Amino acid sequence: MNEKRVIVLDTSAFVAGFDPFSISEKQYTVPLVRDELSKGSMSWIRFKAAVENGLLKVKKPDKVFVEKVREAATFLGDSFFLSKADMQVLALALQLKTRGCEVSIATDDYSIQNVANQLGVKFASLATFGIRFRSKWVRYCPACHKKYPADYKHERCEVCGTMLKRKMLRKTTLKE
Ligand SMILES: [Zn+2]
Repeated sequence: MNEKRVIVLDTSAFVAGFDPFSISEKQYTVPLVRDELSKGSMSWIRFKAAVENGLLKVKKPDKVFVEKVREAATFLGDSFFLSKADMQVLALALQLKTRGCEVSIATDDYSIQNVANQLGVKFASLATFGIRFRSKWVRYCPACHKKYPADYKHERCEVCGTMLKRKMLRKTTLKE
């Protein structure tokens, strides 16, 4: 086994049912991913168990790498589609790669894949890990509850001007 091979996990991986105990590679994620999981959910329970077991490390990336990710995302026009957690996931992957690790981000999020590509960081879709669900994100206004499509181009609600949030709407089973 290659000791330097590491997997970085984003929110979609946990919500779609990724089980850290199913692979032998070292795994990393960021504090904001933990915050995006709903407390008490199956994904949150798996997350906690993997951290307590030492299988999953939660690490905040250095600012310089977050800045590099922001630049790449802005350049590609993907910055509206990335949450702060996504930015941190990308930044941590870039940081680990710079330190000599063989990094792969486990994600089904198209914007994360796109920015990872730009940064020269590898990614693997969740199907690689035997997950056959595709998660759907939706953006919504936390104040007036208006819903927006995941690819809505603006950061703020058109009705009341509040910063939009996002959540995972549902999972659909993919055909093999
Ligand atoms: Zn609103």
